[in-house]
Amino acid sequence: MAEAQATKCVVVGAGPVGALSALYAARRGWDVEVYELRGDLRDASTTPLNFTKSINLALSERGINAMRQSGSTQLVDAILSETIPMHGRMIHSQDVNDHFTEESQQYDVHGRYIRAVDRANLNKLLLDEVEALPNVKLHFNHKLTGADFQRQRAWFEQHASKKPQTADGAQAHQAQIDQRAKEIEVDFDVILGCDGAHSSVRFHLMKFVRMNYEQSYIDTLWCEFTIPPAENALSRTASAKGGFATSPNHLHIWPNDDNMFIAIPSVDKTFTCTLFAPTASFEALERSPSNIHSFFHANFPGAADLVGEDELRRQFDQNPHLPLISIKCSPHHFSSTGVILGDAAHAMVPFYGQGMNTGLEDVRVLFQHLDAHPASADGRRVALSTYTAERVPDAHTINDLALANYWEMHAGVRSPLYLLRKKVEEF
Ligand code: FAD
Repeated sequence: MAEAQATKCVVVGAGPVGALSALYAARRGWDVEVYELRGDLRDASTTPLNFTKSINLALSERGINAMRQSGSTQLVDAILSETIPMHGRMIHSQDVNDHFTEESQQYDVHGRYIRAVDRANLNKLLLDEVEALPNVKLHFNHKLTGADFQRQRAWFEQHASKKPQTADGAQAHQAQIDQRAKEIEVDFDVILGCDGAHSSVRFHLMKFVRMNYEQSYIDTLWCEFTIPPAENALSRTASAKGGFATSPNHLHIWPNDDNMFIAIPSVDKTFTCTLFAPTASFEALERSPSNIHSFFHANFPGAADLVGEDELRRQFDQNPHLPLISIKCSPHHFSSTGVILGDAAHAMVPFYGQGMNTGLEDVRVLFQHLDAHPASADGRRVALSTYTAERVPDAHTINDLALANYWEMHAGVRSPLYLLRKKVEEF
């Protein structure tokens, strides 16, 4: 039987996956409420998710197609207009004469490519699109603290935003203190849990369904760096062009046995870079930060000059050193009332560049199942269970591929001659 009123959908988390989920639900006439723990990321005072300016991601057809299927063609055009094509990977190394070398490895014989996108910008454009729809309400500074998937009730702590919004700062600040941590109760037909790797929705779902759950941290930490535009960089590579310090149309990799440094282009002609290294290497550098230069010179030839010697040390000190988590669970839903998507269902290590892309695809696949069944609690119960049946094996597979690709990126990309020499040395 169809629900008497529009389906009441609560989306938890306003990251890329939550924003796209809200868009899909709203386009189907559902009554959508989005609750997000943090402030509005479109507000300059909000601390971004990873506590640095932004991270650049590889956006692939998997994610683009999911956004296209939302029916918002102009949105997708706007997102793609602020991306940079990456036609292949550029492997940086050093030859026997100690000259820095670059080797371009194309991704596709037909010229197809992936794109570099600023995650924060993609998220902002999705939120703008969602906010413009009359049947969506966005609630920032709301933290899910509990959910009863039988009684269809959820609880949120409503936190004051950090900055006073009115001219009367002192009064507004007091009002916000009074307001702090006020709890609200919300009813729902279905919750879409898009609240990331440490998902609260998943935690509460586990009390209602016998969920198998597996979590592991790999022995690798990551830290973000920035390569400035060519005019500000200490050096540039042979492939530098268009104001970029190195080729803008590649995903740059400085491979090494245990470590890896990568760089992804941004539209402002900078590169967002990531150092991946074992925990022990991070701890050694934290104890002796002045060794960061020799560490880079020994492991990533030429990279320190692109970032800048002083900047290398400053950014290593100031940017957080973060872990990498891998999560598998099953099922992804309970009855007709709750389902988890994105990192909440399958956080993965970033080496396949598919975490967000897979999360966006979850939304497309979920609504394909929902559309195939009647718009009722009974129809949704069947749809959520067929969704889990299709999606769990796919999510587990991409999770495994992401782990396997770490070897490919930090070692496999090197020339066969290099690998052969290493083998001989080991022998
Ligand atoms: P998130 O982006 O984590 O959003 C979850 C939201 O839920 C947050 O806004 C959070 O504040 C909110 N929230 C949390 N708890 C609560 C609560 N209790 N109540 C209310 N709200 C809550 N993916 C790619 O596709 N390509 C790449 O190249 C790529 N590179 C990466 C590189 C690195 C270094 C890392 C770490 C990740 C990378 N990823 C990449 C993965 C990608 O960042 C994630 O998969 C993606 O951000 C997940 O989106 P999400 O919306 O599911 O979760």
